[in-house]
Amino acid sequence: MRLANLNDRAVLLVGPTAIDVVEATKGEFGPTLGSIYERWDAFVAAASGIDTSGGRTFDERDLRSPVPAPRQVFAIGLNYRSHAAETGMAVPEVPAAFTKFPMSLAGPFDEVELSGETVDWEVELVVVIGRKADRVSLESAWEHVAGLTVGQDISDRTMQFAAAGQFSLGKSYRGYGPMGPWLVTTDEFANPDDLQLGCMLNGEEVQRERTSDLIFTVPQLISTLSGVLVLLPGDVIFTGTPAGVGIARQPPRFLAPGDVLESWIEGIGTIRNTCRASSH
Ligand code: ZN
Repeated sequence: MRLANLNDRAVLLVGPTAIDVVEATKGEFGPTLGSIYERWDAFVAAASGIDTSGGRTFDERDLRSPVPAPRQVFAIGLNYRSHAAETGMAVPEVPAAFTKFPMSLAGPFDEVELSGETVDWEVELVVVIGRKADRVSLESAWEHVAGLTVGQDISDRTMQFAAAGQFSLGKSYRGYGPMGPWLVTTDEFANPDDLQLGCMLNGEEVQRERTSDLIFTVPQLISTLSGVLVLLPGDVIFTGTPAGVGIARQPPRFLAPGDVLESWIEGIGTIRNTCRASSH
């Protein structure tokens, strides 16, 4: 099942068409996707009975973030072997977690207003929690996931490394967390632990890897994080980026106004974000 946020209303996607969840469930679920994550099990049960005929075509520019207002956003640094190697940093012993503050999240086709001249790209698999997760085991971790989506952990490297490390702030400028284009439920993947993902900058491939290269897998992240604090329905985990970011290049390369960033994951889709200069 693919679920999207179309102009702030939850829709079920069937081929190229969208079915409004409120209308299809006679007001039982929706209108926001956030309210659906709150009652995820009941929604999944009801969704199998939704009439999938009569969907409407839509403009992709009307898609918004599939998780518009999560209570918690976790992000993981240095979580691909290939990326740890390109940075020259040691593989961490525990997940290197930080947050992207929720107001930094954005839609799948939104513009990115650059905060300076050292802004970088990071394609990431994003996990959306569907069930409250409190000290979850590795074996049951995936049962707590509603679905997966594509994310960009856009990073202002100057702010990120200022004052001995400002990861959360450097990755939380307005619009620095585009996500989408929709949520794909975990049952749609033959193996959700092994998905190819990549990033194109102005049509040139800059990142391509498989999530099987993750140092801490999705179950390990959920188990570890939920051992520290409770994960809530609709919470989001940016799982880390593979090799190929701009700061690790010789010479370093950063985003400039007019650049088009396309980020994709096998079995999910592609988000596309155009960069523009700051108006401030
Ligand atoms: Zn990242």
